[in-house]
Amino acid sequence: MTEPRRDVTGGRGPADSLEANELLEVRDLQVVYRRRRGLLGRGKDELRAVDGVTLSVREGEAVGLVGESGSGKSTVAQAVTRLVPVDSGSITLRGRPLSAASGKELRDLRRELQMVFQDPYSSLDPSMTIRSALREPLHVLGLKRSVDVERVLHTALDAVGLPTSSLDKFPHEFSGGQRQRIAIARALVPEPTMLILDEAVSALDVSTQAQVLSLLQDLRRERGLAYLFIGHDLAVVRRMSDRIAVMYLGRIVEEGPAERVVSHPAHPYTAALLAAVPDGRKDREHDRRKLIHRGANPDPWNRPVGCSFATRCPFAMDICFEQDPQTTGIRQGGTVDCHLQTSGATLAGEVLGDLVADHEHGGAEYAS
Ligand code: SF4
Repeated sequence: MTEPRRDVTGGRGPADSLEANELLEVRDLQVVYRRRRGLLGRGKDELRAVDGVTLSVREGEAVGLVGESGSGKSTVAQAVTRLVPVDSGSITLRGRPLSAASGKELRDLRRELQMVFQDPYSSLDPSMTIRSALREPLHVLGLKRSVDVERVLHTALDAVGLPTSSLDKFPHEFSGGQRQRIAIARALVPEPTMLILDEAVSALDVSTQAQVLSLLQDLRRERGLAYLFIGHDLAVVRRMSDRIAVMYLGRIVEEGPAERVVSHPAHPYTAALLAAVPDGRKDREHDRRKLIHRGANPDPWNRPVGCSFATRCPFAMDICFEQDPQTTGIRQGGTVDCHLQTSGATLAGEVLGDLVADHEHGGAEYAS
């Protein structure tokens, strides 16, 4: 069955999607891993780590990409930053294709798009001073001669709330939260327009995480930065995002305005992620378990026919094991890939129940 093209423009029409403020555009992205099979290694297995992902980020916008480990969300980030090869699809920044760029054009594009990784312990070389670590992007991007290096480093450290005396220290002299601030400062050094934050607060304890999230919100407001915020915790992703895309086994299964996705989830997997957010309510355990602890993840090397979530979905129907669900528009904004929309069921009455009462959840209304 051919799926209609997903509207990734957040409700804007096709004409509007060509507005000048479109920053990053990913279309039909495929990243496939292959391994040899059999004693002689003549056969080949394929794992579609990213399978037809389409999303866009406008200038100054924060888009969240949420899913469990193995959903492919970090591979999307790695493909955008050219850390993994792309099998098909296109990635453009301000309309310029990233895959075809080289030389000065690639350096210019890379300057605009910086990445912050999950692990502040391994992303900083322990043998380098903070000054050297912060100067590195200027060197890689060929900017050292065109800027006042010391001023740039001081400004970046100041932006993340660290003193300039940090420059002559080594990473081990800082706490985990401070190291992640340094990683953010390094990303800010080239003065990018967009940050890709790949599980950037996941390794931090809860209170440090809250401080770094506040810092990121301040930086976005002050500098007009756009974010692609990648995480597995829907509550954290919601706090940081204007729009959210939910990934499962390499595909986006639901996307839309952040408030709609969280208050009116349309896909059972989104509901399961929501149920995984702790709220201290013991009386909701039954509903939580109903949504979370069911079935096993399918083998990504042997993707099942039909909906990939069917083995875990409490609402799987026969059709779910036979056909891929189509992409359907949601009246409150965004899209979902789920057969529930053709069965006439909604998530409100049948899935979420009391679990979501405090969040004023109701089932998403399908546009067609
Ligand atoms: Fe569940 Fe079917 Fe929807 Fe997949 S398509 S999420 S199995 S109801």
